[in-house]
Amino acid sequence: MPIATVNPATGETLKTFEALTPEEVERRLATAEAAYRKHRLTSFADRGKLMERAADLLEADIDDVARTMTLEMGKPLKAARAEAAKCVKAMRWYAAHAESLLADEKPEARDVEDSGAVRAVVRYRPIGPVLAVMPWNFPLWQVVRFAAPALMAGNVGLLKHASNVPQTALYLEELFRRAGYFEGCFQTLLIGSGAVEGVLRDPRVAAATLTGSEPAGRAVASVAGDEVKKTVLELGGSDPYLVLPSADVEKAAATAVTARVQNNGQSCIAAKRFIVHADVHDAFRDRFVAGMRELTVGDPMSEDTDVGPLSSEQGRKDLEALVDDAVAKGATVLCGGGRPERLDGGWFYTPTVLAGITEDMRIHREEAFGPVATLYRVDSLDEAVALANDTPFGLSSNVWTRDEDDIARCVRDIQAGGVFVNGMTASHPGLPFGGAKRSGYGRELAEEGIREFCNVTTVWYG
Ligand code: NDP
Repeated sequence: MPIATVNPATGETLKTFEALTPEEVERRLATAEAAYRKHRLTSFADRGKLMERAADLLEADIDDVARTMTLEMGKPLKAARAEAAKCVKAMRWYAAHAESLLADEKPEARDVEDSGAVRAVVRYRPIGPVLAVMPWNFPLWQVVRFAAPALMAGNVGLLKHASNVPQTALYLEELFRRAGYFEGCFQTLLIGSGAVEGVLRDPRVAAATLTGSEPAGRAVASVAGDEVKKTVLELGGSDPYLVLPSADVEKAAATAVTARVQNNGQSCIAAKRFIVHADVHDAFRDRFVAGMRELTVGDPMSEDTDVGPLSSEQGRKDLEALVDDAVAKGATVLCGGGRPERLDGGWFYTPTVLAGITEDMRIHREEAFGPVATLYRVDSLDEAVALANDTPFGLSSNVWTRDEDDIARCVRDIQAGGVFVNGMTASHPGLPFGGAKRSGYGRELAEEGIREFCNVTTVWYG
């Protein structure tokens, strides 16, 4: 894939970039290692000041960087602004909390005594340069939620961003440089995916985190495994959205629309499979379909737009193939089902709801990365939970009910990294985020996220 900014709303190539030469990559790896040697010795207070400064700079840049994101990957401008503001919040959160999250821990006195020590502590030390392979769908947020904890922990970052968001990638490097970090604390590597293996195998790179598709995750994790380097993987999702008999159907349906089409439908944690109890199915379906029909699809730079284009021509082709396969096998199109007629320049797709889904349809098991929902009717909670789990993925889930027993059952049995009750899944700086099954492993954000790339060191005093 060429490294380029191509406007998804028009298909026009706006700017292309040369990939770094092997010599340039080598220089950056050396710079990262040198930066790490200094950065790891800085205090939490100093790291916090730098992160605060980066947050302030980003806050001042929100409008500009939001336009860059929208231009490169097509999310509505208002969503891009919200994404940048969320990054500011996460940076401030880690600036404020990293020190306490990584403070020395004292094991239980009886365990210290049992080990024969006079005293013992557990210390969270940094591990070195971490490679972040990141996707285009939240081009700022996915990076910041890695970078903020990594830098606060004393690590340094090497970003291999998706090839279609190079300007956002370069902005991030510049942001941390302007904030006053040592040269090399956060660098963008403009390289294709074929060059990732060489970087990851380099002994100066300590670990890797990847957000993206399963094939990309598998490729990076196998190289890292071969090198015995730790990885965190945030892969795809096909989150279930359960609407049970006691649900507030009005609210569940309104939220369902946002949960499905957020980020033009290209979010790993978007609700994708709507599993609705027969008692409330028709009422939910009618409201949900009406809400999907009402969405304004169009120019993502316009303030009125709810759904912009998909990020790439290939992304739209993949989505169309999933819908066509389902329709050919008997699915019913309740709304949408194709390209909007009046928008023929970019990679738009009409918000779509499909019903009558059967197991032989690809969309039943694969992730629909665009504004396409599948609707299922079930007769019991058992059936709902079984269907929720009938997927290779396990990122998050949503449950709408007022019944405490239903909630307890879902929290106990749904195989996913999150259960969001009477609301839609979202990531928050102070709550861990990550998946089960083929959605990946490891956690980002919160205490769990900052500790992923730390050397948990036992210090024993005899
Ligand atoms: P990819 O997974 O291909 O891209 C994500 C990142 O991984 C990019 O930086 C990409 O680089 C890199 N990458 C891709 N293949 C490799 C590899 N073999 N080794 C090392 N790095 C690699 O996502 P796509 O954009 O192709 O989207 C395809 C599908 O992935 C989507 O339809 C969706 O299902 C899923 N996806 C999920 C996301 C999530 O948030 N969980 C985010 C994005 C996609 P480059 O751009 O240079 O190829």
